Amino acid sequence: MVTQISQTQAVPLQTEAVREVVSYDPATGEELGRVPLGSAEDVARAVARAREAQKSWGTLSFRERGALVMRARAVVLEELEEIGALISREAGKPEAESLSMELVPTLDLMQFFARRSARLLKPETIDIGLYRFLGRSSKIVYRPLGVVGIISPWNFPWAIPLGEVVMALMAGNGVVLKPSELTPLVGLKIGEVFRRAGLPEGLLEVVTGDGSTGQALTEAGVDKIMFTGSVATGRRVAEAAARRLTPVVLELGGKDPMIVFEDADIEAASSAAVWGAFANSGQACASVERCYVHERVVEEFTARVVEKTRALRQQTGASEGTDVAAMSSERQLRIVEEHIREAVSRGARVLAGGARWKDAPERGTFHEPTVLAGVNHTMDVMREETFGPVLPLMSFKTEEEAVRLANDSQFGLTASVWTRDITRGRRVAERIEAGTVMVNEVLYTHGIAQTPWGGVKQSGLGRTHGRLGLLEMVAPQHIHVNRLARLHDAWWFGYTPEATRLFRSLARRFATGSALQTMLISPQLLRRLLDKRRRH
Ligand code: NAD
Repeated sequence: MVTQISQTQAVPLQTEAVREVVSYDPATGEELGRVPLGSAEDVARAVARAREAQKSWGTLSFRERGALVMRARAVVLEELEEIGALISREAGKPEAESLSMELVPTLDLMQFFARRSARLLKPETIDIGLYRFLGRSSKIVYRPLGVVGIISPWNFPWAIPLGEVVMALMAGNGVVLKPSELTPLVGLKIGEVFRRAGLPEGLLEVVTGDGSTGQALTEAGVDKIMFTGSVATGRRVAEAAARRLTPVVLELGGKDPMIVFEDADIEAASSAAVWGAFANSGQACASVERCYVHERVVEEFTARVVEKTRALRQQTGASEGTDVAAMSSERQLRIVEEHIREAVSRGARVLAGGARWKDAPERGTFHEPTVLAGVNHTMDVMREETFGPVLPLMSFKTEEEAVRLANDSQFGLTASVWTRDITRGRRVAERIEAGTVMVNEVLYTHGIAQTPWGGVKQSGLGRTHGRLGLLEMVAPQHIHVNRLARLHDAWWFGYTPEATRLFRSLARRFATGSALQTMLISPQLLRRLLDKRRRH
């Protein structure tokens, strides 16, 4: 039940009863297609094929690998409209966002890693301090890992897995991708694009399925797991990986704070809050999920946010001019409803939205963009990931209080600070516990291929994107060369009383790292080296 690339190729490879995943359009409930639900055997076969194909791929130059990624990029450009429409239909988002938040960033990412991976992974000489005076040198070379398993979510079904696929391939790896069960067709499209570009068969395997398929991938002996999803699943993935000592990168949830100081550009900050909270129906790990506004500007800021939220156009993703479309699933929608209900029952006020969109198609899963006031940190809406179109606003008095509120969270993915004083922005940014802190910006830095992406605390481990992300896809190998091999090392056997005296001197002089100090013991060292040579 491994689907090699396209949906039309989704042929079960086994004779047992075919289990399927059905893909729906969340805006209408209409069925979009069916794909196989991959079994553990399917996953194992996919890993074996990727491992085989990787052997020659790993020997290619960066230029050769990059040429292939650029061909895949050309295929994406050829099919831009079709891919954009598919993402929009399967994930429920406006077509404008499929373009701006999924396709534009990945087209940029593809050219960046295709052209720059050679430089980013160039072998590096290490300064080994005083050891170089002993004729030694050290280099780091970056080798492919082998096969990278990628498990991805539904909220950015194209941008998240595609970026990781490109980084893994450029680093010389084979890949097995398990897309979300809510967006398997987009996952298959990624495979199809690379197949059309001429990627060697088996090098990128797309195995559709659900959590059981993902779990099988964590147990299939891949060389690294790149997981993006919820904290609960991330923990399960980490446990499974730990049993085999498989390294993992975990890109998990967020509860990202936005701090608006009294000197911020209120017009820009209010638009940023509305976009940061409601883009993709608030289903971004880096969505603005909590907004803290200085008490001097909270009234003006709130009024503008409410006005701008009411002006948003909610329609299906395919309709022209849609700002906010569907949510991905009924399950996700219910979490949003529950967070709002709980907050309101404890005193929060709904300033805009607050309910399912009443004009939605019958089986569509839409929720109105919602602004809340009167919230506090005892409420789920300020503590748990809502992952929906909800923007809770809270005021603060001092910088100290704003930082404390921002850090009062189990998560630490991104944060944003709004002020005209960039020095203050940087100062506050450095005090916030988050993988990325933006000053006068929100949400979008996953779209910058050059910058690292990842969180602290429960938001995850490791990084994707940028050089740090590319380094997750390689095994650094240290190569150490001794050009004075004729001289036996001073610390080898022959632990004579003179040797012990020398070791004491090494502890006092050489281990200071000072060339001057070491020169003082060079006669002693030289005697030992020559003596050892005489003895052998
Ligand atoms: P999820 O954890 O339910 O599923 C993610 C993937 O894991 C899916 O492909 C799923 O099939 C698979 N899976 C489920 N059980 C598994 C298991 N036991 N072993 C291995 N794989 C398994 O998450 P989701 O609902 O698809 O995505 C939403 C979550 O993702 C949110 O919490 C969001 O914050 C997070 N997210 C994080 C980032 C980031 O970069 N930090 C980006 C996007 C989404």
